[in-house]
Amino acid sequence: MLAVAAVGALAGYLLGVRRRAGEAPPAPAPPPAAPPRPSLSPVQVLRGEDLAGLAERDARELAEELRPYLMDVARQHGAAEVTLWRHAGGDRNALDIVAWSGDGLPPAAATWGTVPERALVAWSAAEQMVGFERRDDEPRIAICPVRFASGEAAGAIVLAATDRFTSTRDSLRDWLPRHAAQVGRLASLFATRNEVARQSRFTRALLRIARDLQRAHEPDALERALCDYAVEVTGGEFAVLLRWDAAQRTGCVAAHSAHAPWAMRDGVVTPSSVAGAACIDGSASFWEDARFLAERGGLLRDDDGGVVAGSMAVLPMMRGTTAIGAIVVGATQLGVLRALEIRNGSVLSALAVNALEASWELAETSRRSRTDALTGLWNRRHFDEQLERVLNETDRFGGTSALVLCDLDFFKKVNDTYGHDAGDAVLQQVATVLRDGVRTVDICARLGGEELALLLPQTAMDGAMELAERLRQAVEAATVPHDGVAIRVTVSMGVAIYSAGSDGKGTLFKRADENLYAAKHGGRNRVVG
Ligand code: GH3
Ligand code: MG
Ligand code: MG
Repeated sequence: MLAVAAVGALAGYLLGVRRRAGEAPPAPAPPPAAPPRPSLSPVQVLRGEDLAGLAERDARELAEELRPYLMDVARQHGAAEVTLWRHAGGDRNALDIVAWSGDGLPPAAATWGTVPERALVAWSAAEQMVGFERRDDEPRIAICPVRFASGEAAGAIVLAATDRFTSTRDSLRDWLPRHAAQVGRLASLFATRNEVARQSRFTRALLRIARDLQRAHEPDALERALCDYAVEVTGGEFAVLLRWDAAQRTGCVAAHSAHAPWAMRDGVVTPSSVAGAACIDGSASFWEDARFLAERGGLLRDDDGGVVAGSMAVLPMMRGTTAIGAIVVGATQLGVLRALEIRNGSVLSALAVNALEASWELAETSRRSRTDALTGLWNRRHFDEQLERVLNETDRFGGTSALVLCDLDFFKKVNDTYGHDAGDAVLQQVATVLRDGVRTVDICARLGGEELALLLPQTAMDGAMELAERLRQAVEAATVPHDGVAIRVTVSMGVAIYSAGSDGKGTLFKRADENLYAAKHGGRNRVVG
């Protein structure tokens, strides 16, 4: 825990975690003989509160671990108490007491001693000087700075006597640095032990994830699971998965974990943003203190106002030298993410590349087989499936759903007058007008030829009529430029609804078609419901 604090105190530096040849991900375990499971295993996510719990446990253990040594020091020099102080956060002058020779939890630094005594401890720890506070020419407090085995300043050890020490001042001057070195070594050992335990937990998680990834095919579930995995193996608070198109130098947010800041939950990723630059560059970046990123510019977009201050990492997912996406991991607190955890994140992103790309390709193939090539609307096959789904959901949740059938008026004449290509352009234009005019939950499809359909879940007759009328007017108002003329078309529409539990399921299409026929016979360019 001391290591965490000390590393966190090194404010505002940027560490590029570059992919090295030796950093190959752990080999995934062979696929299981059992049939593939449909979903990914639930993630044991270590979120902020769990981490706080762990930190508290670490603190208690550290205090217990060091107490016997501090008691020995107290006995040796006749001190009433010996306390170990640690730098808190990034402030050189802020110190906590993390262990002491007494029983129970150590006292709070703010309540210990007098104000000048506390100031002396802070000064001594910051200046790396042995210090004494004297009374009647005898030291009553003796302070010695403590360093970790790595050489980093950790804090100070403080001996306090009620009256006077049994050791002389010279003896204290000789012994204090030796005690400090020993405490530094013990604290480093303790930190290493925790680190190893933490890392082995992460490694176990990575191996489990590697197995899971081989079974995952459905992009939405995989993307979301990857975000949760990233949180799990890095100890971050949230993660966001980006999809990156290297050829177009643009990307978008594909998924996010819980606790992700709102500004990072969707939208595009621009090439000049921090994440875009990392994807182009292909190297992972990591900030233990990400506060200065706010000045650097947008994290995902140039104008997103920077990032949530704290620690942050951008880990591109590389296929060869090309980024196909990136995992952004973050925490609102400084120093929560550290180099070790970020390495886990990099291993995760390397492990996930194949699974993610395969699932994206599969989804793209499936989308193409459901899309009409000319208009980009859904095709008949997708429409039929969705019709069944929407009607079933209407039965389950109640209410009504609507179907609107549309047919272009005198479309044959458009072809005959301006040619087939102009007819195609008109069809595309009408498709765009319809698609832009409906809600995201609505299904807009080309059933064939110049017949289009709108499937409107949870919509009653008056709502459907209103929408159809609005769209009819929009089609009428739109023009398609062709050889100096503006082609205009109109559309006729037939509307029908299905109410939950009614017997109208099988007749819905027929009823809408009859109304379309009535619209045609009523003079075209109108809606009948
Ligand atoms: P109505 O108002 O009665 O619907 O008249 P209409 O001319 O639209 O009706 P009809 O069904 O007789 O003609 C539809 C025309 O749509 C015939 C066909 O050439 C044309 N068509 C169908 N699919 C396409 C296409 O993909 N592109 C083009 N350009 N024309 C198409
Ligand atoms: Mg027709
Ligand atoms: Mg027609």
